[in-house]
Amino acid sequence: MINHLITQKNWQTQLSTAITSVDELLSLLKLERSELSVIVPDNFGLRVPRAFVNKMQAGDANDPLLRQVLPTAEEQISVSGYTQDPLAENAHNPIKGLLHKYQSRVLLTITGACAIHCRYCFRQHFDYGANLPTSKEQEAIVDYISDNPDINEVILSGGDPLSISNRRLFAWLDCLEAIPQLTTIRLHTRLPLVIPERIDAELLQRLAQSRCQLVMVIHCNHANEIDDNTAQYLQRLKQIGVTLLNQTVLLAGINDQVETQVALSHRLFAAGVLPYYLHVLDKVAGAAHFDCDEQQAITLYWQLLSKLPGYLVPKLVRELPNFAFKTPIDIYQAD
Ligand SMILES: *Cc1c(COP(=O)(O)O)cnc(C)c1O
Ligand code: SF4
Repeated sequence: MINHLITQKNWQTQLSTAITSVDELLSLLKLERSELSVIVPDNFGLRVPRAFVNKMQAGDANDPLLRQVLPTAEEQISVSGYTQDPLAENAHNPIKGLLHKYQSRVLLTITGACAIHCRYCFRQHFDYGANLPTSKEQEAIVDYISDNPDINEVILSGGDPLSISNRRLFAWLDCLEAIPQLTTIRLHTRLPLVIPERIDAELLQRLAQSRCQLVMVIHCNHANEIDDNTAQYLQRLKQIGVTLLNQTVLLAGINDQVETQVALSHRLFAAGVLPYYLHVLDKVAGAAHFDCDEQQAITLYWQLLSKLPGYLVPKLVRELPNFAFKTPIDIYQAD
């Protein structure tokens, strides 16, 4: 019990002591401000847990993990076609916190908080404050699902659903497991990569007891995000029967080389995780510099098909506002 309390404090402490100062980050990495066009944004500032910084290479201004979190002047360039709500999600939001866009599953944004701020994130302009479910909405969500027998799966998302306490998370699991038609509960989270200790004994025990099939979709963009410690925590989830999948965002200069994607698939598999989606970037304002040209993405994808076994090739998809599924990218299309 005492041990358990120590680990609990450990991840919570890691969460609350995440780095938010650009100068502190650069000094830890032995980088000079002059090497980088760093900015201090008004909203959605720098946030990165120290365990993730430890996976970065000191002295490398182009480190693929650093580039995911460091706010730079490129964000301030406005590019036409890149908007605040690229997925028009506001149209599929019948109850606060509930997105029902796809037929058999709903997505719940149960928190606005994330352990890490990813600069390309399509949720960075989302008004979470106004869209978080209170206990009243929690009841309404349960009723909504019960009234829609097509729904058999609930996706806990956010923000990051593992950034909330076990107590609050388990309360969600309890009320969802009580809905008989649900077969599957899924968590979309980046926590196992940025603070692996979040997968604490209490969480493992609770997940192991669930009557539902559990799926965890982690969000890893680069093999360097999975060191041995991270892999061990992921394997623990696998051992209790959680299906582990990964979604990646294709990011220019970070993971748009074929070797990088091949290494990522192999590293994921070694940690017990199968590649699921490779998303082309959602066209969110401030992230245009991360976007890859679609023809380049297709060329990359053909190479992945030739280099990897089929089960290590993620599906290359784009999310389109008016489609009720992630849309496969046509890899046969001509220039
Ligand atoms: C991505 C997403 C899902 C899940 O889609 P899958 O293809 O089942 O992984 C569900 N709802 C919304 C709104 C989504 O954006
Ligand atoms: S929602 Fe996911 S991608 Fe966006 S900032 Fe949070 S962890 Fe990063």
